[in-house]
Amino acid sequence: MPELPEVESLAADLRERAVGRVIDRADIAEFSVLKTYDPPLTALHGAVLRDVSRHGKFLDLITAPEGPATGSALHLITHLARAGWLRWREDMPDQPGRPGKGPLAFRLRFADGAGFDLTEAGTRKRLSVYLVTDPAAVPGIAALGPDPLAPEFTAEVLGGLLAGRRTQIKGVLRDQKIIAGIGNAYSDEVLHAARMSPFRLASSLSADDVAALHDVIVTTLRDAVERSAGLGASELKKEKKAGLAVHGKAGQKCPVCGDVIREVSFADSALQYCATCQTGGKPLADRRLSRLLK
Ligand SMILES: [Zn+2]
Repeated sequence: MPELPEVESLAADLRERAVGRVIDRADIAEFSVLKTYDPPLTALHGAVLRDVSRHGKFLDLITAPEGPATGSALHLITHLARAGWLRWREDMPDQPGRPGKGPLAFRLRFADGAGFDLTEAGTRKRLSVYLVTDPAAVPGIAALGPDPLAPEFTAEVLGGLLAGRRTQIKGVLRDQKIIAGIGNAYSDEVLHAARMSPFRLASSLSADDVAALHDVIVTTLRDAVERSAGLGASELKKEKKAGLAVHGKAGQKCPVCGDVIREVSFADSALQYCATCQTGGKPLADRRLSRLLK
């Protein structure tokens, strides 16, 4: 799943490639992806892409009518969900793409023939697209917590977010309403770098723990953004995987201490961690008793 660093890089890549281009058409190929109906997607026809930005894991394409920027801006916003991706093409087909066939969810074509597809692998369709005049009209954006790369996100702010929360730090870091943009992968990475158990209660962190965790959150995300800077959408996934220390690497060696990376499975996801680095050598309880845990 693309998280803050990947969405940040997608935004930078699109800004570089596409700002100033005129939109020819935008079409959904999968009916369930479009979450808004007013204005309709046809309102984008002839609009110019003015900028691309990010809210948490949401990508925001800011458009305005062609000519002097007098008309109101329209925001084409997408959340790629777990299995969504963006594919840029210099030469798009003229056809909008047939509904209900394959991974294509949405297609945008610029007047010069370039454009991008939003695709989603798998059968559970979660990718979403919104066309709004104000990003805050998207419920997931209106509810977002502070952005960890914003200058306002200080250790004090993080301390305030964690104080009194008697829930596991892993879940807190992933909760978009508390902090925007961190998902399953980067919460594993942050906790590994912070040498902190994913099951630790957020409310139990001392001021020093909070300061150290804040530092690790910012550094981990910044490093990931820097690693993927200048990479096109097609190379981002590979780079993300290569840059991770523990996430998705159960059974491999911890790059810090050499212990085996373990995992805890849940109904819908799994977390990975290093017992030596994070839990004083004690494996966390995993009801599924992963075969990697022997
Ligand atoms: Zn380790």
